[in-house]
Amino acid sequence: MQVPAHFEYEKATTLDHAIALLARLGPEARVLAGGHSLIPMMKLRMAQPDALVDINELSGELGGIAVDGDELWIGALVRHAELLDSAVVGEHYPIFHDAERVIADPVVRNRGTIGGSLCQADPSEDLSAAFAAVGATAVIAGPDGTRTVAAREFHVGPYETVVGPGELLIELRVPIRPAGGSAYEKVERRVGDWLVAAAGVAIWLDGDAIGSAGIGLTAEGTPHFAAAEAEEFLRGQPASHDTFAEAGRIAAANCNPVADQRGPVDYKRHLAGELTTRALRRAAARARGQEG
Ligand SMILES: Cc1cc2nc3c(=O)[nH]c(=O)nc-3n(C[C@H](O)[C@H](O)[C@H](O)COP(=O)(O)OP(=O)(O)OC[C@H]3O[C@@H](n4cnc5c(N)ncnc54)[C@H](O)[C@@H]3O)c2cc1C
Repeated sequence: MQVPAHFEYEKATTLDHAIALLARLGPEARVLAGGHSLIPMMKLRMAQPDALVDINELSGELGGIAVDGDELWIGALVRHAELLDSAVVGEHYPIFHDAERVIADPVVRNRGTIGGSLCQADPSEDLSAAFAAVGATAVIAGPDGTRTVAAREFHVGPYETVVGPGELLIELRVPIRPAGGSAYEKVERRVGDWLVAAAGVAIWLDGDAIGSAGIGLTAEGTPHFAAAEAEEFLRGQPASHDTFAEAGRIAAANCNPVADQRGPVDYKRHLAGELTTRALRRAAARARGQEG
């Protein structure tokens, strides 16, 4: 089946208009951002929304990347390519540049949005782990105003988020803290393919020790994409290769991947450990200003 079922289409001109349209069109309406996930699913009839609310004209309200005080703000309508090109993102959180370089291809990156990626909530989607690692907060708008949710509580299961009917994700806020470094490491079978596994890491140093760390795992079956046990282990440990190797072992022991055409459980578990260790090494080097 290559043609979507019948649906109503509305183009929102402001955020308030989008919220009003979602309220009028009811719970079977869906937001249309880049359309790179939603439209193929509609063509395959895996999604059959009654109506689409196109938010592509809202780049004034939902686009843009900025530093506000000690937070990095990323609008939900920011395209993958914009995140990749942003110097301010690279300065504070190179993890997003690492991840974006290996997301899909330029065609998808030019159109697909950060909000669409997170709201699609595909377990193999790269940015969910990255936002979990950096401790981001998601801002959601709806008829009753805005609310914030930790990125780690944003996903409630595969293809499910806390964004309710009538609501939209409007931006991500990422705390900027001193002495930090971050990195993302991914294994895919070929360029542009969905990944086998990936690990994203953010680390904050306290002298030679680790003050705190965030670890996100993609396609590894961990709750909220996070490797909580390894994060807990790292707190207060020396920032050494031995520590990073042990954190990788802990991450591997506590993940829960599923076997599929991209690999068996043992291989994915091995990748969880190896990629966590590599990302930690790279993030720590960046925190020390040793690698760009
Ligand atoms: C060939 C191909 C390869 C890909 N490879 C990768 C990859 O390697 N890694 C990776 O991570 N991703 C990959 N993707 C997925 C891609 O990143 C997503 O398709 C895309 O970014 C989703 O964003 P979108 O703006 O297109 O969302 P859409 O398709 O417009 O929407 C996706 C879902 O999110 C909802 N939604 C969108 N925006 C909002 C919002 N602001 N508030 C509430 N709900 C919203 C929609 O209603 C829909 O349910 C690939 C996609 C393709 C087509």
